[in-house]
Amino acid sequence: MTDLKGLPKPRRDLLPGSQYQGHTPIHIGVETSRGCPYDCEFCCIGQTLGQQYRVRPVQEVIAEIESIDSPHLLFTDDALGLNRNVAKKLFSEMIPLRRRWLAQGTVSLAEDLELLRLMERAGCLGLLIGFESVQKGTQNEVNKIKNLKIDFYEAMHRFHGEGFGILGSFVFGFDYENKDVFEQTLEFIMRGRLDVVQLRFSLLIRNTVI
Ligand code: SF4
Repeated sequence: MTDLKGLPKPRRDLLPGSQYQGHTPIHIGVETSRGCPYDCEFCCIGQTLGQQYRVRPVQEVIAEIESIDSPHLLFTDDALGLNRNVAKKLFSEMIPLRRRWLAQGTVSLAEDLELLRLMERAGCLGLLIGFESVQKGTQNEVNKIKNLKIDFYEAMHRFHGEGFGILGSFVFGFDYENKDVFEQTLEFIMRGRLDVVQLRFSLLIRNTVI
C-alpha cells in the first residue's frame, strides 16, 4: 500500500496481556512510516516495504498514541524521521502527551539539531542507530551514510547531549573493508561511548546477512 492514510487501528485488545503489561513491546508499538529509499545491500526493507518513504498523517499517529494506555512507546519504523518536516510536526504534537519512547533511525538524524531537540522534548529515551561501518571505503558504498554531513563522533556527541542512549549497529564483511575494521570499530565504540552495540557478520554481503 502506498498511501498510509486511514490504516486500520491495531487490535491490541487481542494480544496476550492486553492491558499493556506484557514483556513484549508489541502492545506499545506504533508505526509512523513505511519504506526506505536507501536500499542498503544487507537490508530487506526496500524489497518488503518499498523504496518510497511514506508517512502516516500526523493526526492519525497522535490519535493512536492517545489510545495507548501506557507511558512507554516503541516506534516500529525502520527509519524514523526521514521526512524531517513531518517528523518535527509529529514530535511537536507529542510533547504534551508526555510519553517515553524508543526508536530506530539513521545517523543523519543527528545532522538536525532542531529535530533532536524536539525528539528529546517529545520523550525520546534511546535509538538504535545503524552506523554499519567505520571505514570510509565501505561508507562510500552505503547510500545512507555516504553523504552524511556529520561524522560519527559528532553524531554520538549530539545524541548523548540530548540524553539518548544509543544502540549502535555494525555490519562486517563488506567487499571494501580490510582487517583493520575490527580495531577501528572497537575504537569508535569506546571513544564514542556507545551504550550498547550490535555486531553482525555477513558471509556474502551482496546477497544476504547471516
Ligand atoms: S537505511 Fe536502514 S531501513 Fe533503510 S535500507 Fe538501510 S538499513 Fe534498511
